[in-house]
Amino acid sequence: MKDDRISAGSHGETVTWDERGKPVVPARPIIPFIEGDGIGPDIWAATRTVMDAAVEKSYGGEKGIAWLEIFAGEKAQQAYGADKALPEETLEAISEYGIAIKGPLTTPVGGGFRSLNVALRQILDLYACVRPVKYVPGVPAPVRHPEWVDVVIFRENMEDVYAGLEWPAGSDEARALLELVNEKAQASGLGTVSTESAIGIKPMSKHNSVRLIRMAIEYAVEHGRDSVTLMHKGNIMKYTEGAFRDWGYELAADAFSDAVVSEQDVVDRFEGRPPEDRVVIKDRIADAMFQQLLLRPQEYDVIATPNLNGDYLSDAAAAQVGGLGLAPGANIGDRRALFEATHGTAPKYAGMDKVNPGSLILSGVEMLRFMGWTEAADLILAGLTRTISRGLVTYDLARQMENATELKCSEFAQAIRENL
Ligand code: NAP
Repeated sequence: MKDDRISAGSHGETVTWDERGKPVVPARPIIPFIEGDGIGPDIWAATRTVMDAAVEKSYGGEKGIAWLEIFAGEKAQQAYGADKALPEETLEAISEYGIAIKGPLTTPVGGGFRSLNVALRQILDLYACVRPVKYVPGVPAPVRHPEWVDVVIFRENMEDVYAGLEWPAGSDEARALLELVNEKAQASGLGTVSTESAIGIKPMSKHNSVRLIRMAIEYAVEHGRDSVTLMHKGNIMKYTEGAFRDWGYELAADAFSDAVVSEQDVVDRFEGRPPEDRVVIKDRIADAMFQQLLLRPQEYDVIATPNLNGDYLSDAAAAQVGGLGLAPGANIGDRRALFEATHGTAPKYAGMDKVNPGSLILSGVEMLRFMGWTEAADLILAGLTRTISRGLVTYDLARQMENATELKCSEFAQAIRENL
């Protein structure tokens, strides 16, 4: 990098990728980080100390992360100028170094983006939003058996209603589009709509759907998971969400025939008992999926779904095991991955050293797993679990637990380090 605002890790090396697209991580990888806005600096400081301590303890100095600060959001505007909330240099650094982590970002009003987070995902072609949801013992949860939940949600990140193609009711664009829509609808014998309506477009392509589903199936096969569920609303939206389901089954049969079996085949050919070495491919309509995840979460494992369904389901699933404060997330594309806290900037708590850094710490755990540094990842998870089970928690968990000791954000990180 030739930008002096980005002080390149002088003693680090760049992550490379093998022919299967898996990261090849040197002993001192350069990992860019975006601190984030609002509570970002607090939770990032906590996360970094926990990650460094776990790596040091796991590898005794033989491995270490060369952190590289890059900028987005308010800090980028200070460093690069008011109109540069997402500088080119930041995008280049993530592309070049391949694996990065970020805190939450505020989208500046009038900054030229609907959302910095959506822009980062779309510009960098991070086509899968991956959200593992698993219960951390000791966390207060609203259901009787939160420990039954262990799913990884793969949400399509590029299109669907997030494409940003919408026009207000009564605008010239909406009217013109709706006139065309009505003309086509009449020709096909379908009902027409009022030309005074607002209109939004829901594009869903085979290319984007298939590569997302492929990543989900590969993950399930590699990690010995039992099933991949295609979650869709294809009973109503036949050519978008219905096609997502059909493309998924087609891909499974064409590219993974030795590794998967469809739910229908389990009934027809295997007397209802799937062969142990096969991943079962099934599908569920979105509304049923929400019920099933609440009532019979053990039957679900990896879930692949279009953008909007995935947005709703991942937050609902996180709430089921105790909330967004502990939900990790990653945006993954080909040869690049950006790990992130799933909550926002909680501006009212900015600079108070108060909030729960768990979501970003667990995103760091996922990053370490992605890098193959499993020992450090396991160490952090064990340390976090031990800390929470001893009742040492931040305010958000303390207010739901009896006899908990409320810690500041930095004290919680310190307790995790002591419990590693
Ligand atoms: P939010 O920042 O997630 O905060 C909503 C509430 O969630 C907080 O008031 C707090 O609840 C709780 N919370 C969030 N993070 C927490 C943490 N680490 N520890 C404990 N509690 C936590 O949502 P928002 O207020 O709707 O959004 C604020 C800004 O964040 C907006 O500018 C939005 O655009 C941005 N945002 C960014 C991202 C991202 O960068 N990925 C995602 C979502 C939103 P209590 O008040 O009950 O304590």
